[in-house]
Amino acid sequence: MTHLFPKVFVDFDGTITKRDVGNAFFRKFGNEAESLKLVGKWKSGELSGSDLLLKEAEYVSVSEEDALKFVENFEVDSSFKYFLNFCNENGIELTVLSDGLDFYIKKILAANGISGVSFYSNGARFHSLHIEIELPYESDCTKCANCKGHQILMNNGSDDAIVYIGNGFSDRCAVQYADVVFAKDELLRYCEENNITYFPFVTFDDVLKKFRKVFEAGNFRKRHRAELKRKEAYLTE
Ligand SMILES: [Mg+2]
Repeated sequence: MTHLFPKVFVDFDGTITKRDVGNAFFRKFGNEAESLKLVGKWKSGELSGSDLLLKEAEYVSVSEEDALKFVENFEVDSSFKYFLNFCNENGIELTVLSDGLDFYIKKILAANGISGVSFYSNGARFHSLHIEIELPYESDCTKCANCKGHQILMNNGSDDAIVYIGNGFSDRCAVQYADVVFAKDELLRYCEENNITYFPFVTFDDVLKKFRKVFEAGNFRKRHRAELKRKEAYLTE
């Protein structure tokens, strides 16, 4: 049997950070009541992920400087850096997949001294007090502007065991295709309801403990249902 090596994908908002920065940003500088309504419509499938971002952005009024000041104080899970170090020391690729915006991901990672992490997210460009949303990764799946399931399909090889770590609604497509899932909050409930095997976690300390054990035992395996889902997806593309 081929030896599988883990390839790690991690959600950003509410997983690496303690709170959802994107939501907080739109509530603070956009229209809070509208944002709540729009997010509700997105979750019920009435609104695509791209339209959600574009509509929320229409209400935003903030300078780039004030936006950066606001986001830099969002706390990161303090044990994330230990997990990242473990991955780096062992040559394990870690990629952040986010349906949020690039400017705060960059700012928060830098503010916490975290460098060299690659990420795929949506973009935001500031023009005086307005933001322009950029959607470089739109795909056939329109649930999210940056479908994490699509990203996983585009970025893995046959000897990879795909590990996914996340907490929320935009992680649903990702966990379909992941061999090993670490889940908390809303994503944990989704895995429960859909019979997707997962490890629960609260912080990256929990993730690292479990991950290290499986890694050191050379025990990463493909999850049968995820493998079928991936094959199905490649056949229909
Ligand atoms: Mg999240």
